[in-house]
Amino acid sequence: MVADLKYQRILLKLSGEALGPQGFGIDAETVRSIAGEIKRVHSLGVEIAMVIGGGNMWRGADAAATGIDRATADYVGMLATVMNSLVMQDAMEKQGMVTRVQTAIEMPPVAEPFIRRRAVRHLELGRVVILAAGSGNPFFTTDTAAALRAVELNAQILLKATKVDGIYDDDPMRNSNARKFDELSYMRALNMGLKVMDSTALSLCKDNHMPIIVFDLHQPGALEAIIRGEKCGTLVSS
Ligand code: UDP
Repeated sequence: MVADLKYQRILLKLSGEALGPQGFGIDAETVRSIAGEIKRVHSLGVEIAMVIGGGNMWRGADAAATGIDRATADYVGMLATVMNSLVMQDAMEKQGMVTRVQTAIEMPPVAEPFIRRRAVRHLELGRVVILAAGSGNPFFTTDTAAALRAVELNAQILLKATKVDGIYDDDPMRNSNARKFDELSYMRALNMGLKVMDSTALSLCKDNHMPIIVFDLHQPGALEAIIRGEKCGTLVSS
């Protein structure tokens, strides 16, 4: 237990898009830099579970729009998250962190299956647990998988890393007058129909009182600032 930290156990959700500079593919330097940000908080003694998306390679809904069966397309998406997770694991271990990948779809030669109690034990032993293959079910997203795992693993907060530094009342990339929220209730976030997190994920967090902070992981030091309790990003809570 580290006394001066606000959060001792976190669930960090990374979009697949975060791994490639143009939101597509995987850029080794970007992955190394993200691993470096995670190492900063890991070395403080924070227990870290991660869920990584697959949108930099494949999105089930987009693929289904081209005529592929939706469930099949979603399984492909879940496999994309496994690829991202293995690449992130490699980068993190090269920086000295001990990690385990656990998959929601069993693939023993590649990674452990997701076993909640084992994941908790890894966290207690200081291993970063990367939870791959989403929830293992089609028609869900990795945001929902992240909400589910955050609740299951008793994380104190779900940290959702995005390209922008919080939630705005309009797209800040297109509207320079868009206003950033420091805090937002679950209900308001749900009513706003936010793109940053889907309603299934938000509802799960709301029902289980799991706070969410949306922040920009590419902003150096942002993750550590949050862990130390500094105001950063947008907090979504009751
Ligand atoms: N996916 C799924 N079930 C899950 C998680 C993910 O079917 O529990 C599929 C879905 O097709 C999704 C894709 O995996 O589009 C990649 O995940 P996501 O879009 O959430 O990735 P991100 O946007 O976070 O990169």
